[in-house]
Amino acid sequence: MSRDDADDPDAAGNRRRGSGGPLLRDLGEFGLIDLLRRRYGGRAHPGELSIGDDAAVVRVPRGRAVLSTDMLLEGTHFSLDYFLPAEVGWRALSANLSDLAAMGAAPLCYLAALAAPGRTPVATVDGIFCGMAAAAAPSGMRLVGGDTCRGDRLALSLTVVGAVERGRPLTRTGARPGDLLYVTGSPGWSHLGLRLLRGGRPAKATGWRGEAMRRHLRPEARWREGMIAARSGAVAAMIDLSDGLLPDLSHLLEREGLGAILPEEAFPFPPAFRKAASALGIDPLAAFLAGGEDYELALTVPPRRRRRFLGAMRRCKELPVTRVGRVVPEPGVWLSRDGRQEHLVGGFSHF
Ligand code: ADP
Ligand code: MG
Repeated sequence: MSRDDADDPDAAGNRRRGSGGPLLRDLGEFGLIDLLRRRYGGRAHPGELSIGDDAAVVRVPRGRAVLSTDMLLEGTHFSLDYFLPAEVGWRALSANLSDLAAMGAAPLCYLAALAAPGRTPVATVDGIFCGMAAAAAPSGMRLVGGDTCRGDRLALSLTVVGAVERGRPLTRTGARPGDLLYVTGSPGWSHLGLRLLRGGRPAKATGWRGEAMRRHLRPEARWREGMIAARSGAVAAMIDLSDGLLPDLSHLLEREGLGAILPEEAFPFPPAFRKAASALGIDPLAAFLAGGEDYELALTVPPRRRRRFLGAMRRCKELPVTRVGRVVPEPGVWLSRDGRQEHLVGGFSHF
């Protein structure tokens, strides 16, 4: 980070744009690590080590560790033209946390590897880590380490660690014909938010606009719901919705050679969601079925475990689960409406 690239026009541009403060090259690698450790480093409990040694040491519960990594490149997965640094951090952390949620794991800690050009304002990296810390805070997940190096563009690789103490982690396999299909919350909002933002970012957003923006910029991973679902012992298979309900559902079904029927009248379309979709000229059905990045959970429950499942999920007071269909023995996903069935996978072209 300390090599000089003084003739760099972007650096001059950053200064001109008034991002003002120091650049990473002014701070150097160790200065940056020290700043991140002081501001965002997780506390080490007795017998543990957080940022600063060769590796982190954390106490782990009995049971099994659950681990996941994701990598984000500037220009490919995010752009600072559209997102504030804190939003990039929030979304990155939430996407990773959602992978733990989808296994039913309790979040423990995370590591963040960062590559960045020397011309990057320190405030940009600070913002990204601030967003990650804010998204991690409710779950108690702590930053315990990472790596920092110089690169030609920003890249962020997060590793999250969780644990399943009792029972087993929930996987994408295990759905059976006849299983009931549920989703948490109301998928589709994130796509509405994206479309709203593409039309120019509103300076102040309230009502449905505020909700659509929040759901796209600051999605909340359903780690509580995932843990409760797993502990209920009533769920057969589970996945988080990152690509969209249809593509993600096919991950639950295809490997088992199964399909699903989704009755349209069952879909969770709250009035504000319908209003937002209509104002943006988007079919709510399209946003629900094909919109990505909602980070809700989709799961299947054998009918005989339905009561146990619903009883357990009542503990997630704010977030309802909705039954959106059932698993069938034939491959393919079908939308049923007005007494007719429409084949969806590959044939859904409302976007
Ligand atoms: P090493 O040379 O052994 O890889 P580093 O100098 O890269 O050590 O890292 C020193 C400490 O700082 C380690 O504990 C590492 O986990 C932590 N660290 C480095 N970069 C980051 C980062 N981007 N976020 C959090 N912790 C970091
Ligand atoms: Mg290192």
